[in-house]
Formats: sequence, structure tokens, C-alpha cells
Amino acid sequence: MIAKVIVDIPSKSVDYTFDYIIPTRLQSMIQVGVRVIVPFGPRTIQGYVMHITNQPDSDIDTAKLKEIKEIQDIKPELTEELIQLTEWYNNYFVTKRISMLEVMLPSAIKAKYTKVFAIEDAENIPQTLLQRFDGEGHYPYKTAQYNDDLNQLLPLLKQGTVAEVTLLSQNVGKKKQRAVAVVEGFDEEQILGSLEKSKKQYELYAYLLDERHRTVLLKDIEAMEFSKSSVDTLVRKGYVEKYDAIVERDPFETRVFEQDAKQQLTTDQQQAFDAILEKIQAHEQRTFLLHGVTGSGKTEVYLQTIEEALKLDRQAMMLVPEIALTPQMVLRFKRRFGDEVAVLHSGLSKGERYDEWQKIRDGKARVSVGARSSVFAPFKNLGMIIIDEEHESTYKQEDYPRYHARDIAQWRSQYHQCPLILGSATPSLETYARAEKGVYELLALPHRVNQQALPEVEIVDMREELSSGNRSMFSNQLRDAIQQRLDKKEQIVLFLNRRGYASFMLCRDCGHVPQCPNCDISLTYHKTTDQLKCHYCGHQEVPPNRCPNCESEHIRQVGTGTQRVEELLQEVFQDARIIRMDVDTTSRKGAHEKLLNDFGERKGDILLGTQMIAKGLDFPNITLVGVLNADTMLNLPDFRASERTYQLLTQVAGRAGRHEKEGQVIIQTYNPDHYAIKDVQQNDYIAFFEKEMSYRKIGKYPPYFFLMNFTISHKEMKKVMEASKHIHKVLLQHLSDKALVLGPTPAALARINNEFRFQILVKYKSEPALHEALKYLDDYYHDQYLKEKLALKIDINPQMMM
Ligand code: ADP
Ligand code: ZN
Ligand code: ZN
Repeated sequence: MIAKVIVDIPSKSVDYTFDYIIPTRLQSMIQVGVRVIVPFGPRTIQGYVMHITNQPDSDIDTAKLKEIKEIQDIKPELTEELIQLTEWYNNYFVTKRISMLEVMLPSAIKAKYTKVFAIEDAENIPQTLLQRFDGEGHYPYKTAQYNDDLNQLLPLLKQGTVAEVTLLSQNVGKKKQRAVAVVEGFDEEQILGSLEKSKKQYELYAYLLDERHRTVLLKDIEAMEFSKSSVDTLVRKGYVEKYDAIVERDPFETRVFEQDAKQQLTTDQQQAFDAILEKIQAHEQRTFLLHGVTGSGKTEVYLQTIEEALKLDRQAMMLVPEIALTPQMVLRFKRRFGDEVAVLHSGLSKGERYDEWQKIRDGKARVSVGARSSVFAPFKNLGMIIIDEEHESTYKQEDYPRYHARDIAQWRSQYHQCPLILGSATPSLETYARAEKGVYELLALPHRVNQQALPEVEIVDMREELSSGNRSMFSNQLRDAIQQRLDKKEQIVLFLNRRGYASFMLCRDCGHVPQCPNCDISLTYHKTTDQLKCHYCGHQEVPPNRCPNCESEHIRQVGTGTQRVEELLQEVFQDARIIRMDVDTTSRKGAHEKLLNDFGERKGDILLGTQMIAKGLDFPNITLVGVLNADTMLNLPDFRASERTYQLLTQVAGRAGRHEKEGQVIIQTYNPDHYAIKDVQQNDYIAFFEKEMSYRKIGKYPPYFFLMNFTISHKEMKKVMEASKHIHKVLLQHLSDKALVLGPTPAALARINNEFRFQILVKYKSEPALHEALKYLDDYYHDQYLKEKLALKIDINPQMMM
């Protein structure tokens, strides 16, 4: 027997299967999807078994084939389906198989680990075998293979007499971490009094007193504004102690979940529910667009259809844009389905992720909630797939391999013959256009549940504010509205659009803006560290006191960071309690959730935040949402700028008045007549869609045309230009005259990390020969890359045009 193996070397030149003989001793154990150790040239490396066959390829001399040395899994890590998916994707999107396998599999299996057999039922294990288990009842795979015991162990594994367990090394498993706590039994007031002179120690001690009911990790303390030395001083004084805390793996594990009541569906919800259920029952693929305004009960439809899928003994996968931003969604799923839910996201440690992955693979968890990469969850019998907020750009992975979760989900729903539900209040234009054409089936929830009115939206023209003498960032209308809410003890959400809006340094005399020495982009100013940073290459420098161009001292930070807005806000509303949510205040694990909880418990009056507050926020007491700067995204050089603006503003507006109390939304803008803003006010998606479609048609953009973006980069401009010309020529040879090839031109970011970048954009509808050109270029430039670091990046259906 022969196994076809993909070896674990991320290189194009070995991106096909190699044949290996399966030695007799391993024959009963090797299955498709297990990892093996094989000889490869002078070394031995890991590989994945993709196929098993009796027949070697005809041109292969079996006598020369080498044997598989070892196997690493008994239960395959990969399912047959995921292997097929890899083949399809690789073929269609020109990637490397091993790169796809890598994004699919949890990284824990690449970390240090030992697989062992563990005793489940000692009585039924033959004595000779039992001796081999260690004190903890473990018998490592590797040793078992060495001793030739696998054939004996395998039937025991099937009976459940022994189990398969993966022991992860310390740093990925259940962790012990250094934690800090106050030493109990002192007079705390007295200690506080004695610390009054050293502000930092005082604050730290006060903080630890406040948090004494929970575990405070040393690293979290250090990530805040407290210093190591304050901790050490307090430890030396004996007021505070350090200890090893066991950190729970599952952030939700320790909590008790109240049941979440199932709602009686509205007529619209019922229709959507019926349509989806019909496909689940019929085992039929269908892609639905569930287009429902915010608060129309989409989630309730998901929950109830999932329940039906589970009753039919099938599984359900739910994708969300970013799980840290949707804790309330996760809670609802946990409440409804309890332990059946596996939560997959990047905030988990490797060990945690692997636990969740295994639960799914072994059928212990039948529902997954997760971000983009959870689209690869190893379910074996899916009954439905949901992509919530399907328009979000986070579903596209921008790094290699550049996959879009929607494409993967579509393929998997085909494989499992189950429905795929794309949910959104503001679908992407591509999706809505497909629904209009009947490629997808449209399910509409046009009203909020319980006849709740959508909030009233007011647009404030900031140009008028300016000409009437108000130079602050709060219009009079917004200021009055905030005051009213504060008086009524209702809550306010203020949104600051950060996209395309970083703070930088500017010389007021000559206009000089410090640039990255390696890239063609301005440096961003970071207040917390008082550094100028480049987001593309990581370059950092101390901000200059004098303008390097004209020596003027009038060089300072411009652009309004959230921190600054918070200060300004506090000046105007002195008694208001403000909770600020941005990258700085939420970098600690769990911080995001805590801030939201605080706001939910009304520990704050105003929640001020960036993009991260736009999603999933659902609190009854929010009656005012203010958008401070609606325009920053409109001006980005991207054909999706209007679409993104419309989507974001609609989402933000949807945070107001979701319950009994009526909501109001105030949008401040310098472009009050722009349709992307006006249609938000009217809450008219269709109107927006139609206008935007006509622009896309004129501009030959998606959904009328597909896009493909080629970026060529190298340290020498000459090489980049030559390669660009070559690519341009190859494309023209393969494309019909219906396709447009734009460029080569310098990319919007013309230089990153001292490499020059050129871009070629192809707009096309149907080009059968394009694929051949891609394969050729991908191979050709793979070699060029190896030879002289000349890189070609091919982005199919790009989401970002920089
Ligand atoms: P969406 O996902 O579209 O924003 P949700 O499913 O979160 O909407 O529903 C909004 C609110 O209405 C939630 O508080 C939810 O519990 C409630 N809800 C949803 N469906 C119903 C229903 N059929 N009857 C009563 N309340 C409902
Ligand atoms: Zn200057
Ligand atoms: Zn740079």
C-alpha cells in the first residue's frame, strides 16, 4: 500500500504529493488525514497523508520508494473533507497546499506536544501491555511504535479501553501564572494613608483592594500603567504578595449560564425559519441572504434553526467577524446550547483552541461560534452554516493564503448539502446583487421585533457649525442631546471613526510631516509610548522637538485620538462618567468584556469608542448615539469607501433604542448631502444599493466586474518595472478584449520597507484562460523570488486596494 503525502515544507517546489510505502506494521493504522514522519532527502520531516492507494503512479518505480517511518496520530487531525477542500482551493486560488493545511489546523499541533495512550479501563488491558504505562497511566505513541505495540493498542482504543490524549507542553496547556494580591489582615485604610505620598504605590494598592475577589495577573498589572518596581516595593513592604495562580483555560468555563428563553417567532422570522429548515431537512444546498435591520431578530432565527439542525443530529457552524467584539452573542449561544458550543477565536491560548477543535472533531461540541478561521472547524455532518455580518472585511484573510471565509463556507455547504445563511443589515453589494438575481434566496426581516421603531437619525452639518463659530468637535445639537440624556440618567454612545484617521506630527510653519525612512507613509504618533511608529515596517523613533525641515518649534501632534476626545468631553461634561474603548484600553485579555459589562451595569454614562463599539452592543438604557466624524472613511482611495461608510454608520446607529426606550442618533459630517450618509438617515438600504450599483457599473467595479490585483515588489525599481511589464504582457496574451488591464502603476503605497511596489489591476467578467496565466505567473515568480527576492502577490477579489 502506498500513501500520498504532502510534506511540511512551505515551498512551491514541493507542493505536490510524494509516494511512500506503508510498512506492514503500520498498515492498520494509517488513514487519510493522519500525520506521519517520512524520510525526505537527507532528513526526516513531518507530512500529511492525503490519499491511500494500492496503485502507484505508473511512472514510479516502487522499488525505489521509501517507507513511512512513524505515525503521529491515531485519530486523523484532518478530515477527508478538509483534504478535498485543500485540493479545490489550491487549484482555484493558486496557493500552496501546505499553507492551506496550516491555516486549517490549530497551531497547537505544531507546538510541542506528546500524544499518549491513557488507561481508561485497566482490567481489560493485557498485563504485558499494562506494564508499559507510566505512573500517570500514560504510554507515549512514540514508544508504543518503537515497541511495536500499536497493533495491540488499536483495538483497545476502538473499544474504549484506552484513550488517546494529547499532552501539550506547559506553555500551551493549563497555565500557572504569576499573580498579585493584597496580603490580608492589615488595616487597609492605614496602609493607604501611609502610601499617599507615592502616588503609584497608592494607586496600585487601591486597585488590588478593588480587585481582591478575582485573580490579578502580574503581566496584566504591568500592561497597565503600574510599574514592576511599584509591585516590588509593595511586596518588600509586605502589603502585597506574588503567587502562582492556575489560569482557567475556558474563559466561560466557570460561569453558570441562565437559560435564555426561546422566543415565539414573528411572521417574518417564521418565514425565514421555515425556508431554512426546509433545506436542512431536504439535505439540500442553498445560500440564503437574511437581510434584516438591526434588532430584527436575525440571531433568534439562527438560534432556532440551529436547534432544529441539532435535533436532526447534524451540526452547525456560526461565523462572526471578530469574537472579542461580540461577547453578548457568545453568551446567547452558550445560554441556548450550553456545552454543545465550542468557541474558537484568536484570543484563546493554543491549548484552549486545540481543546475546542478536538471537541468538534470528536463530536462532543456540535455548534461552533468563531471568527474567520473557524470556517475550517472539523465537523463531519454539518446541517447549516451561518455567516453573521457577512459584509465585514475581516472574513478575508489579508495574509497568504488569502482566503475568504465566504468562499470556503460556500464550498463546505455544497459538500455537506446544507444551507448557508449570510446575515446582515447592510449586505455587501456583491451579495445583495446575487440575491436580486436569484442566485441566493432573499429572506427579509424589514422591521424590528415588537414594532420597535428604528431610531430617528439627525445629520449635523459641521461646516455650518464652523461658520457659526463653534470650533469644538461637538456640535451644539449633540452637546444639548448629551446633556439631556445625562439629566435623565440615560446612556450615550459616542463613536469616533478611526479608519484612515491616525494621529501624526505636523509642522505648523512649513507643513512637514515626519515620514517613515523605509516606506512612503507618514509615521503615526502613539501617545502611550510617546513614539512615532510606522505601521507597515515597524520602524520607531522619538518625536522631534524641532521640525527637521525648517527648525521650527511648532511641530506637534495633530489628529484627534480617543484619549484626547475623552479629555475634551470631560471638560464639557464635568460630572459625566466616561468609559473609553479603543486599542489602548482593550489590549489586556478580557478588558473589552469588562468595559462593556461596566457600561451594561451603568457604571458609566458615556461610552466613547472606535470601530470596536459598532458591533453587537445591546443595552436597554442607550438612548443616544453620536457619530463624531462620519467622513473620515468616505475619503479613502478605495471604491468601497461609500459602502463601508454606509455599513458602519448603520451599524453604529443600530445601537440606540433597541428596547423600550426610544433612541436618537446624531451624525456629524462635512458631507451632509452624500448619499452614503443620507440613506443611513432614511434607513434605506435599497436606495443606497441602487445608487452605489450605478457608480460601480460606470467604474467597472464589483459586482459588475471581478477584480484581481497583482503587486510586484523588489528593492530595485528597475527589476520591479521589468517584471511588471512581463506580467502585463502575459496577462494580455491570456485575456480577451473584454477584460481591462490597468497599470502597471506605482501602488498606493509605493514603497514599503525599502521595497518598491507596482500594481496591475485586472477587471474581468469571464476569462477561461486567466487561470492558466495565474498558474504560470505564480510558478515563474516563485522561482524569481527564490533567486532574487522579486515578489509577486496575487490577490483575487481584493478587499483592500492599498
Ligand atoms: P438581530 O440579530 O437582528 O440584531 P436579535 O435576534 O438580537 O436581532 O433580536 C433583537 C432583540 O429582540 C433581542 O433582545 C431578542 O431577544 C429579541 N427578540 C428576537 N426575536 C424575538 C421574538 N420573536 N419575540 C420577542 N423578542 C424577540
Ligand atoms: Zn517645518
Ligand atoms: Zn515603514
